[in-house]
Amino acid sequence: MCVSNPFPAEFPPTWQWHALPMGVASAVAPAQGTFDGALLLDRDGTLIEDGHFLADPAGVVLVPEALAAIRRARARRWAVGVVSNQGGIGLQRFGWSDAAAVHDAVVRLLGGEGVALDVALMSPFHPEGGHPEFGRTAPPSRGRKPEPGMIELAMRMLRVRGEVLLVGDKPSDVAAAAAAGVEAIQVSRCDARSSRCGDGWERVYKRLGDDA
Ligand SMILES: [Mg+2]
Repeated sequence: MCVSNPFPAEFPPTWQWHALPMGVASAVAPAQGTFDGALLLDRDGTLIEDGHFLADPAGVVLVPEALAAIRRARARRWAVGVVSNQGGIGLQRFGWSDAAAVHDAVVRLLGGEGVALDVALMSPFHPEGGHPEFGRTAPPSRGRKPEPGMIELAMRMLRVRGEVLLVGDKPSDVAAAAAAGVEAIQVSRCDARSSRCGDGWERVYKRLGDDA
């Protein structure tokens, strides 16, 4: 695995960002050891409330249902990872440093809940974007959902031998999981204005077991 940093100079040095195949970036060095399975979460609209090209770390709000799911996964000795399209980079809506700062806030908030991630992957591509490396002129990326690349990469990095469950809020999450041969559950967006989130999270809990 390449560990040099090809990303722009403004990229925060506080993170050990690994350059991975398909232009995917990782904020977490791959965990050592083996896991009985893995819970892979989409980020925006799943792990955190969807901020629509969120680039401000102050806008990060954890989705409580995701936290409950992570605790259930941990109780089963599963790895927990994030696979996130961050096409805002390809669209030039925000830069790498903004994406990293938001991710930093996610990790900080999770840490406050006693939860850590084993892997976090981000794809910067957007097929309509103007970014010279990650926009429309870039070759099609297998790393951007609904392509399966990020899920496959996460599984390889985690050396998962057991079951894998992908949880996301969009059909592209489910499609990416299907293409990777992985089970998926689609959850509805939850936010402060919505008291009902569909039964997606209930199905996630049922799948993972009750021992949170
Ligand atoms: Mg999402």
